[in-house]
Amino acid sequence: MRWKNRRSSSNIEDRRGTTTRANGGPIAGGALGSILISLFRRGSGKTKLALIGGVIIACFVFKMNPLSLLGFSSGGGSRQTVQSNGRPADPRIKEYFAKLKGTNEDIWQQILPKYDIRYRPSKMVIYTTRTHTAGGIADARMGPFYMPADETIYIDPTFFDELKTRFGAKGDFAEAYVIAHEVGHHIQKILKLTDHVHNQKGRIPPIEYNQLSVRLELHADFLSGIFAHHAQEKFNFLETGDIQEAMDCAEAIGDDRIQSQAQGHIQPDLFTHGTSAQRKRWFMRGYRSGDLNDGNILFSIRYQDL
Ligand SMILES: [Zn+2]
Repeated sequence: MRWKNRRSSSNIEDRRGTTTRANGGPIAGGALGSILISLFRRGSGKTKLALIGGVIIACFVFKMNPLSLLGFSSGGGSRQTVQSNGRPADPRIKEYFAKLKGTNEDIWQQILPKYDIRYRPSKMVIYTTRTHTAGGIADARMGPFYMPADETIYIDPTFFDELKTRFGAKGDFAEAYVIAHEVGHHIQKILKLTDHVHNQKGRIPPIEYNQLSVRLELHADFLSGIFAHHAQEKFNFLETGDIQEAMDCAEAIGDDRIQSQAQGHIQPDLFTHGTSAQRKRWFMRGYRSGDLNDGNILFSIRYQDL
């Protein structure tokens, strides 16, 4: 995937190094900083001196900035993000995500007006472990997701390590497929498909509603394929093996594959995203055609024919 010369999106917020408590408020620099500050406030003169000395020694030993240990900003007035292991958040990761996001924005900005649809970009938050969203707390264990309420994609970059180690899906285009799928959910919101599906909740039997949300997920895979088609056409974005990487990823994260690995059997009623075969099929359909209207059939054909 040729991503390095692409435009970086500015709709990206890097929250790595801050975390969010279960009750809401974000805390910077970890709980240790808060404890040290409260001890400092309550302590006598000697305690304060001992604390200052302790912090300086700890920072020297662990090669940390004392202000960042306490959760304050530092260095030219900008806020430094520090991961829990004390290392600054790797800026290359943000750059990588910003370029992938920027490429998606450029493609959709070009496609939607051809269908008389007005485009607006989504936001993206990269975080570690937990962060707040318009719909509650995002937890890294949930994997990447799109929150329609604030039109934001939330992703903990360590998911991509899991993609390689746990799911065996390797390659940068496996990652691009996942990002483009999440951007696809934003496009669905613009197309009002998200509202259409959510409005059915409680009006149709739960099994049918579940099938409808599987259709929505497969449509996001289709949109991911549409992105790949146009990114190749516009930017010569793909390298040999990239589409295979997306296919291998779709294979690895299909509901049937995940269920049989986790519990040894398959329960189609509990599918959320579709089978490996379905995910591959709809990605490829988008990739081959490049035509947005070609995905409409997903909402009209019989469920067993998906
Ligand atoms: Zn999805």
